[in-house]
Amino acid sequence: IAKQNGKNRFSYYRTEMDEHAHTRLRLSNALRRALAVGELSLHFQPVVDLNTSNIVKAEALLRWQHPEMGNIEPAKFIPLAEETGLILEISNWVFCEAVACAKQACLIAGHLIPISINRSPVEFLSENASSDWLDYLAKMNVPTSAIIMEITEGLLLHPSQAVKNQLLRYAESGLMVALDDFGTGYSAMSYLHQFHLDYLKIDQSFVKGISENRAHRTIVETIILMAHKLGLKVIAEGIETEEQRRLLLQAGCDYGQGYYFSHAVPAAIFQRMLGNAAH
Ligand code: C2E
Ligand code: MG
Ligand code: MG
Ligand code: MG
Repeated sequence: IAKQNGKNRFSYYRTEMDEHAHTRLRLSNALRRALAVGELSLHFQPVVDLNTSNIVKAEALLRWQHPEMGNIEPAKFIPLAEETGLILEISNWVFCEAVACAKQACLIAGHLIPISINRSPVEFLSENASSDWLDYLAKMNVPTSAIIMEITEGLLLHPSQAVKNQLLRYAESGLMVALDDFGTGYSAMSYLHQFHLDYLKIDQSFVKGISENRAHRTIVETIILMAHKLGLKVIAEGIETEEQRRLLLQAGCDYGQGYYFSHAVPAAIFQRMLGNAAH
């Protein structure tokens, strides 16, 4: 009986594993198709100057509208794109869309509205496309300072030569760099000064705690002081309430984004928001 049970259990697990692998394969084929047929889109979340509440930037965020499965969140399909290598193509597409948005936004606002894009660590495994991207910016007549690369802490902790070279190339070319989700990872501060960074983004988990928890507030204030001393501007993520906005402003934070100001919206709506502000 034991043997039989064991056998059954084995085949049960195997079926479940096959199922899992099968779902992933299906999803990754669907993702490849999605990119080709235009099911992916970029939404833009405004970033405001906390002193004036004016929209001064935006973050580009991927959306996947699947015909049967509906909206699929980036957290579900980005890891898959990273594993399959499709992230490189997706990222190229995201970059081009972000450049188009930055160009439009500048025309509407009458001044530069930088657009930030999220870069996956996987994209830094090889020397890549960044020279193509610089060519593309030149061709489109968009300044390098119109694009902000959002990277995460893990990349800086034990940086490979490829990572160092790329970050150096960004700094030399004038592409901006933001450190995303600060406070969630290692938050070792010692490496911050070794790289040319322009912005530090405080993770939304700290913003959530700021109005309830004295200790959180102290940590946020300290992060902002440190960032400023290192010459970085600070963006707070995930601001949802007036009180969070006020406390962050008091703590000296430069910029904010979050549902309190706006969700991520399609390009046309983002442009309308900029147009309304300009008139
Ligand atoms: P992230 O870069 O930290 O982006 C911020 C996330 O917080 C977004 O989730 C945004 O919609 C959400 N958010 C903004 N304001 C608020 C708020 O007030 N409250 C709450 N609760 N959430 C808020 P989203 O769009 O689901 O993206 C999740 C993550 O997926 C991003 O985190 C980023 O790491 C990744 N991602 C999105 N687009 C891309 C992309 O084009 N390429 C890569 N490599 N990753 C991307
Ligand atoms: Mg981001
Ligand atoms: Mg710079
Ligand atoms: Mg973030």
